[in-house]
Amino acid sequence: MAQRTILILGGGIGGLVASNVLKDKLGERADIKVVEKKRYFQFPPSYPWLMLGERKPEQVQREFGLLGKKGIGVVRGEVSSIDLERRSVQVNGSGIDYDYLIIALGAQYAPERIPGLLENSYHIYDLESALKFQKALKDFSGGTIAVGVSSLPFKCPAAPYEAALLINHYFKGRGLGDKVKIRFFTPEGLPLPSAGPDIGNSMFDFMKSRRIDAKFKVKLKEVKSGEAIFEDGSTIPFDLLFAVPPHRCSPAVEKAGLLDQTGWIPVEPTTMRTRYDGVYAVGDVTSVPTPSGFVPYLPKAGVFAHRQAEVVANNIAVEIKGRGRAKTWDGSGACFLMTGGGYAGFVKGTWFATPHPAIKFHSPSKVWYMQRVLFEKYWMRHWF
Ligand SMILES: Cc1cc2nc3c(=O)[nH]c(=O)nc-3n(C[C@H](O)[C@H](O)[C@H](O)COP(=O)(O)OP(=O)(O)OC[C@H]3O[C@@H](n4cnc5c(N)ncnc54)[C@H](O)[C@@H]3O)c2cc1C
Repeated sequence: MAQRTILILGGGIGGLVASNVLKDKLGERADIKVVEKKRYFQFPPSYPWLMLGERKPEQVQREFGLLGKKGIGVVRGEVSSIDLERRSVQVNGSGIDYDYLIIALGAQYAPERIPGLLENSYHIYDLESALKFQKALKDFSGGTIAVGVSSLPFKCPAAPYEAALLINHYFKGRGLGDKVKIRFFTPEGLPLPSAGPDIGNSMFDFMKSRRIDAKFKVKLKEVKSGEAIFEDGSTIPFDLLFAVPPHRCSPAVEKAGLLDQTGWIPVEPTTMRTRYDGVYAVGDVTSVPTPSGFVPYLPKAGVFAHRQAEVVANNIAVEIKGRGRAKTWDGSGACFLMTGGGYAGFVKGTWFATPHPAIKFHSPSKVWYMQRVLFEKYWMRHWF
């Protein structure tokens, strides 16, 4: 049988897992190509450590070129358009044809959607921004730090809460605990809404125990120097602002007509199939409905991208080989939430369980923190 071409758009968490699993399962039977605009794979769960100055960039990134040693092709360039009828993708002005397509382009940021946000705020949603925020924290000697979420959806439901707790602990460690006040804000009704009200309330209590004020159900409308202004007219004055920027889908995906009303790619939740034959989407680029969930769509998280990519890669391999067992994904996942001082909590569960997602929160401990450190080591070594 002629060699099939499997094109994977994006080499982040979903694309990296999909390419590795496909190579393991198919060897030379398929030409596996990852299209990626960046030179390095960068591991976002390590950005909170970058923010605190506890990691250097070289510790949390790997060169994509290393995949070549495994026989995975890497095309360095920007996907500019996807032609689903002709089964071809435009990269750097040339067309690459495919038999199977896995779209794993993640989410992009659109700070320009909120006036004043870009000029007046920091975040840790990419490596360079995390480094800038590290410096801002280092130079900060007292006042109010507003930490929050500008709009929904955003990736990693735990990340902004984790950031608030870590920043709080960081200033205590510098002896500035009494001089720094953290004020949290978010459009969500409670922390981690997809995990349900019990976990949300525990998290809220935990924040209160750390003297972090939180304002829920507020959407950021505008930022002026020193003031965050919300749609309901309320404000938070700040000396330093950390705000998760608005997220949007890649323009190439939008132009291809793949999006639904959510602004993301709708997929069949257990197989990640799109409505186009042989075309799959995994990770943050998707909208995955959760009919029995606490929220209508699955949150965006690397652990989901990982599990979805494994299922998609397995099923494509089964189809190409004509043997093996097709798999489905059950919406399971887990994530750590660092709370400062070498402690982390752990959330684990199945988001598609009925009548409601079955999710458990394990209280912060040093053991979960150690697991978090091992999780980073696994990611930095296993896939390259
Ligand atoms: C601070 C922070 C902490 C986090 N912590 C956790 C955690 O502890 N656990 C967890 O599960 N998740 C965590 N996440 C979320 C997790 O990183 C994402 O959900 C995950 O990376 C999504 O994987 P993905 O493959 O869909 O997209 P990504 O990993 O974002 O990969 C998309 C890739 O596509 C590339 N790309 C985009 N557009 C183009 C284009 N046009 N052409 C070519 N290439 C393109 C990008 O460069 C990128 O490499 C965290 C995120 C952040 C920001």
